Amino acid sequence: MTSQVHEFQAEARQLLDLMVHSIYSNKDSFLRELVSNASDALDKLRLAGLTDKDLDADISDLHIRLIPDAGARTLTVVDNGIGMSRDEVIGLIGTIAKSGTAELRRKLAESRADGADTAVSEELIGQFGVGFYSTFMVASEVTLVTRKAGESVGTRWTSTGDGTYTIDDVADAPQGTSITLALTAVDEDDAVHDYADRFVLRGLVKKYSDFIAWPIRMLGEAPEPVEPAEGEEAVEPVGPVDETLNSQKALWSKSKDEVTPEEYADFYRHVSHAWDEPLETISLHAEGTFEYQALLFIPTQAPFDLFMRERASGIHLYVKRVFIMDDATELMPEYLRWVQGVVDAADLSLNVSREILQQDRQIRAIRRRLVKKVISTVQEIADKRPDDYRTFWENFGRVFKEGLVNDADNAQAILKASMFASTHSETEPTRLADYLTRMADDQDVIYYMTGESRAQIVGSPHLEAFAAKGIEVLVLSDPVDEVWVGTVPEFDGKKFVSIAKGVVDLDGSDDEADSERDEAFAPLLAWMGEALADDVTQVRLTSRLTDSAACLVGDEFSMTPQLEKLYRASGQ
Ligand code: ADP
Ligand code: MG
Repeated sequence: MTSQVHEFQAEARQLLDLMVHSIYSNKDSFLRELVSNASDALDKLRLAGLTDKDLDADISDLHIRLIPDAGARTLTVVDNGIGMSRDEVIGLIGTIAKSGTAELRRKLAESRADGADTAVSEELIGQFGVGFYSTFMVASEVTLVTRKAGESVGTRWTSTGDGTYTIDDVADAPQGTSITLALTAVDEDDAVHDYADRFVLRGLVKKYSDFIAWPIRMLGEAPEPVEPAEGEEAVEPVGPVDETLNSQKALWSKSKDEVTPEEYADFYRHVSHAWDEPLETISLHAEGTFEYQALLFIPTQAPFDLFMRERASGIHLYVKRVFIMDDATELMPEYLRWVQGVVDAADLSLNVSREILQQDRQIRAIRRRLVKKVISTVQEIADKRPDDYRTFWENFGRVFKEGLVNDADNAQAILKASMFASTHSETEPTRLADYLTRMADDQDVIYYMTGESRAQIVGSPHLEAFAAKGIEVLVLSDPVDEVWVGTVPEFDGKKFVSIAKGVVDLDGSDDEADSERDEAFAPLLAWMGEALADDVTQVRLTSRLTDSAACLVGDEFSMTPQLEKLYRASGQ
């Protein structure tokens, strides 16, 4: 095929535009992105080489190479990894295949309207992770040459980041990928450093990519030629020496005190493809029957696609340092899908498939342990770091609560580590333990009401008597709340009771207990019951209203209107 000009997909164009106009202050991070991609490509090739005997690819010296050219003002990053086919280049580089792009686009438009506030844009980039496109922060033109392992023809992709890119075939491309940046001018004010300078590059690799498992090499400066001393023979000039810039230490095999928070943060960004800081780092080393190491992170920011169906797990599975797969959903339940990190299991086969993973006893045991550890870590954050916990909860609380429905074994622990809006405070959600301490001595259940929004719940007639008596009620307005209240009966021995269902006993006097009153109202109730027979099953007197004349309640065991809606929405 000959040279073809393509247009970037709309979302990609917007992201590129952000990059070209470089609102992101940390421009150095483009190198981390390129190295990270190269490292992923090497991981993939090694695994393919080990498991596919027919693959015609050399995996004996996998590495990354930086080639700065100060004269031409270019930097080239080369890997001899898996490479990309022509279609992959178009699909992966020309489009943003990630889910959440629509959301990103909307937010970008919003931030534009607000006058392209830098902080907003930076946060967006942080949430989305711009990857390869970050090169356009420091390059006026980017050229990518790649050949996929096992294929004979390579592909060249070039773009100046202006909305189009060009694709050509390359007959003699080496296997793997090389990316050449035509560097923009150095601008210390704008923090564009000299990326053709070896000293700068050494520093950046050390800083951002030291843990990368593959050697990152660079030819050093040629040593000054040595003048021969009087009467001695001239020494052959020595060529430049190849240096390895990173120490390649696998952070997950180290204990926590051997690793700095910065190293963890950089590793987190590498595995998660995110740009934020980890809120918490969890390091586990298990010995005994099942030997494994795990390094897990709780992110600070929620990724864009947290609520998208196709969102993969954030756990990378390794077997004795060999990368196996990057979305090991078998290791983390869906409600913990925001957890990022690495699990390195000692006794699995490199050929392990998803089907095997799903059956594997060891994987199940590891998963059980990781789940407990993550929940207890959330609980610790909740106990000790209220501000961080708020951040966590705003980002992940709704997902975390899905565990109440799907993980009965851990439901109590999840409840303990959760918080809920309540009538106690309009703005501050409460932990259940705190709700219990505020209960009157004679209150022995936890009251809640579900609904679509706080306003709807608080404005509901059901709440009147509770408000009047100063009884705290949990205000549950997330869709998942509807579901878990049906599956988790109690917390700490206290039953959850809906104030909108069945008969609520508020004075110790039962709704139905007053027989004199009942007699007086019997004819009215009978008449109303008949008149409304198509719509309600019963009309009864209640003590739960103070201002309103009547309210609708469900049976103790009926679905709430919200749950009915939820089921209808999911097609059941
Ligand atoms: P991400 O790494 O988060 O997926 P990027 O924009 O960094 O996003 O890269 C997009 C995709 O392009 C990668 O997922 C990968 O499939 C492909 N890719 C990028 N760089 C390379 C490379 N050096 N070798 C092979 N594939 C690459
Ligand atoms: Mg990437």
